[in-house]
Amino acid sequence: MKVIDLTPRGYCHGVLNAMAIVKKVIRTESYPRPIYVLGQIVHNQKITKAFKEHGVISLDQKGKTRLEMLEQVDHGTVIFTAHGISDKVIERAKEKGLTYLNATCRDVLKVHKAVKVKLDEGYQVIYIGHRNHPEPEAILDIDPSILFVENEKDAMLLPNDLGDKIFVTNQTTLSLYDIKSVLSIIETKYPSYIFDNEICNATTIRQQAVMDQEKVDLMLVVGDQKSSNSNKLAEVSRKSKDIPSYLIGGVEDINLEWLQGIDSVSVTSGASTPTIVAEEVISFLKQYKKDDPNTWHHQSSLSLTDIL
Ligand code: SF4
Repeated sequence: MKVIDLTPRGYCHGVLNAMAIVKKVIRTESYPRPIYVLGQIVHNQKITKAFKEHGVISLDQKGKTRLEMLEQVDHGTVIFTAHGISDKVIERAKEKGLTYLNATCRDVLKVHKAVKVKLDEGYQVIYIGHRNHPEPEAILDIDPSILFVENEKDAMLLPNDLGDKIFVTNQTTLSLYDIKSVLSIIETKYPSYIFDNEICNATTIRQQAVMDQEKVDLMLVVGDQKSSNSNKLAEVSRKSKDIPSYLIGGVEDINLEWLQGIDSVSVTSGASTPTIVAEEVISFLKQYKKDDPNTWHHQSSLSLTDIL
């Protein structure tokens, strides 16, 4: 099997920073216990499980906001995730007398700042993102006037009479495909709109590597189902190169049927995927031979200690 290891892949600076913060709290006894993370520190189940082994409690409850989850915490240390947190939640943590650390990525903070500046200048802000993702949740908490758009249908439903000061921006881990289709509608409705593309550099260069790759029979993206940037890598591969692409959590998720009758596969990974997990996938594929059952075993041999 020809295996192409796409680069860059793996951790971005925001993920490295967030993980370093959690590790620091774990090894520093003066931080009050228990240690809570409001959500998943980064979107990767393996990392969440590995931190759980060190006593870190990830409060990740579907349908609950960060503010609602914070209400369950009365003492200890709270870590806000790389995806961003609203000022309201920070204020509430202060009111409760909690020790907290903010692991928000600097690229996400940049969007918060841009949105606040434009609101102060009297703009109507329209934000493009994914529903039920923590990054938009924090942005929308800045001001109730911000209009949220996920897709073309949402854009069509935007009111026509928003004035002529319209500022449009977006979640950092989208793809240009997500944005283009929505922008084409916004452009028709509000010709004088200003657009600030906030897809982060880490997301952009990983997607570019996928778009620039040679044609292969299959692409595997190693990443978590909840990871927006990982999902986008698979989507970009399908849309830009017409390559069948699957998102897998690790080597154990490979479906051997995908490898039937193919000769080449490329591998990339999301910005929150441990390198060691992607490397295990690559090693398996390199030794895989369709006619030799001895090469078909694909259970992970990684322990939680290996993940961190
Ligand atoms: S994917 Fe981008 S925005 Fe998200 S943590 Fe990484 S660098 Fe920051």
